[in-house]
Amino acid sequence: MVMKKGDAFTAKDLPQAVRESLPAVYVDDLLVSLKYFIDEKQSHLKIKDHAVCARCQYKPCLDFCPVSVYSLGHDGKIQVAYQACVECGSCRVGCPYQNIEWTLPRGGFGVAYKFG
Ligand code: SF4
Ligand code: SF4
Repeated sequence: MVMKKGDAFTAKDLPQAVRESLPAVYVDDLLVSLKYFIDEKQSHLKIKDHAVCARCQYKPCLDFCPVSVYSLGHDGKIQVAYQACVECGSCRVGCPYQNIEWTLPRGGFGVAYKFG
């Protein structure tokens, strides 16, 4: 497959040499150190237009989110489990159609990182 700048792709589409050069990251091991302050009333992530998602061939949001916030519902629509978001920002740049509205959670909510 010949890729051009701006093409959507998933990790399995990358050449084998590139895939093998990626660092092994065990997200689950990192997640146990996080603390979540969930905003039950308001999502900080929104799909702008589900019709755009329906036309999105590769749906890379199903792959690039490290904690699988995005999933495909039984109705074929993208579902957003914003409560699990670790605020990495990938969906601000990963959606090829800029179809995800991304803001930080309201003050007092979101994820807290502990170091050390
Ligand atoms: S959110 Fe973006 S990447 Fe995901 S299906 Fe919709 S248009 Fe595609
Ligand atoms: S900011 Fe990161 S963790 Fe949150 S939904 Fe987007 S890709 Fe997933």
